[in-house]
Amino acid sequence: MVSEVFAGLSAFKTMLDTAKGLKDINDASGRNAVAIELQEHILTAQAAQMALVERVRELEEEVAGFEAWETEKQRYKLTKCAYSSALVYLLKKSEANGEPGHALCTNCYERRTKSILQWNGEVIISSHFWVCPSCGAKVSTHGEDLPEFADA
Ligand SMILES: [Zn+2]
Repeated sequence: MVSEVFAGLSAFKTMLDTAKGLKDINDASGRNAVAIELQEHILTAQAAQMALVERVRELEEEVAGFEAWETEKQRYKLTKCAYSSALVYLLKKSEANGEPGHALCTNCYERRTKSILQWNGEVIISSHFWVCPSCGAKVSTHGEDLPEFADA
């Protein structure tokens, strides 16, 4: 991004220097050559400006994504399951807004991704296995110790 800014500024300085030199050129062919050179610099500056506008748009999207995640993540509470000691982010009951209770993968949560753990139907003795569809992490809970909601 910084290099794009300097490229744009450099193009403008070159254009200014070239334009200043126009007054010293007396013949038409010399002025035409300088005019063509100026057009090239203008195109370079326009390309640099377009790249900067695109980068600003990308950064604005990224900031909006961070802000949305900061709001979304407040709906969950890191919870330790009573028997298995598995850690999950549980939806707070006060933040449910009609959604059924669910748990998020801690791995994905830390990477700003909301990924709901899904029971894979596997039960071994009294352990239930939950899988993250995004990263593939597997969480084992003992029996029914994965609460539906977090309290707070
Ligand atoms: Zn995950």
